Amino acid sequence: MASSNTVLMRLVASAYSIAQKAGMIVRRVIAEGDLGIVEKTCATDLQTKADRLAQMSICSSLARKFPKLTIIGEEDLPSEEVDQELIEDSQWEEILKQPCPSQYSSIKEEDLVVWVDPLDGTKEYTEGLLDNVTVLIGIAYEGKAIAGVINQPYYNYENNEKQQLREHRNEAKAGPDAVLGRTIWGVLGLGAFGFQLKEVPAGKHIITTTRSHSNKLVTDCVTAMNPDAVLRVGGAGNKIIQLIEGKASAYVFASPGCKKWDTCAPEVILHAVGGKLTDIHGNVLQYHKDAS
Ligand code: AMP
Ligand code: MG
Ligand code: MG
Repeated sequence: MASSNTVLMRLVASAYSIAQKAGMIVRRVIAEGDLGIVEKTCATDLQTKADRLAQMSICSSLARKFPKLTIIGEEDLPSEEVDQELIEDSQWEEILKQPCPSQYSSIKEEDLVVWVDPLDGTKEYTEGLLDNVTVLIGIAYEGKAIAGVINQPYYNYENNEKQQLREHRNEAKAGPDAVLGRTIWGVLGLGAFGFQLKEVPAGKHIITTTRSHSNKLVTDCVTAMNPDAVLRVGGAGNKIIQLIEGKASAYVFASPGCKKWDTCAPEVILHAVGGKLTDIHGNVLQYHKDAS
């Protein structure tokens, strides 16, 4: 392992803080009440003000600090001057204390491609299923996803509501894990952090799949796997979190709807703890800048 002052570790440390800022933007848009919903291709393919502001924040913050990166964001936005208030300049110092895996120590900025999903689970966000939402920043080198950050802005959302109820009733406050939001990060060869790895209950085969983008092939495929239970939830990031936290044993989605910004960061977290993400044929996914 090399010292952490490498381009990769500095980028991950910045992406951590930038994803946290994007998570705050996602919460602020809901709190202000105007979602500014736009249909992209159809009624289940949406964009909100939060998708737009979060992407501007993430891409501009990354580009200012790392001008030679290739950054690909999900949303098609006009290029305009971004409000200084959206820029995040800090980096998460804890990450800089970690060593960089030696195979990545000489990577240069221009060798990296960053895949950004500013808000994964937009359909669910518009329906108030807020704990399905994540902010995804995935980092690829030579076509392979090697590092990733996932912010879950509404982690502990229900706990937080319960906490407000307890406070209202003058009951004891919930413990420290009632803080709203969390950030998970990982680098291949180093590990994944910010959550507790759990196995699914022994002998249980639980499949997690889409809630908003199903079709006959998706449901036939899930049924053919003869699961004990099926969870239908929003977000690719959210479903990978279900796998690593022992709520589901497999994420099955036999449809082309998922894009590289959906899978890049989640794939790294899953692979760092020994899981596997592939396409429908079992092939690894490619994350070169022109990968579709
Ligand atoms: P889901 O599991 O339905 O939340 O989908 C995971 C990710 O893939 C989300 O970012 C969706 O927006 C995207 N996605 C999946 N299927 C489609 C589709 N048919 N049209 C548009 N986006 C899709
Ligand atoms: Mg997405
Ligand atoms: Mg999105």
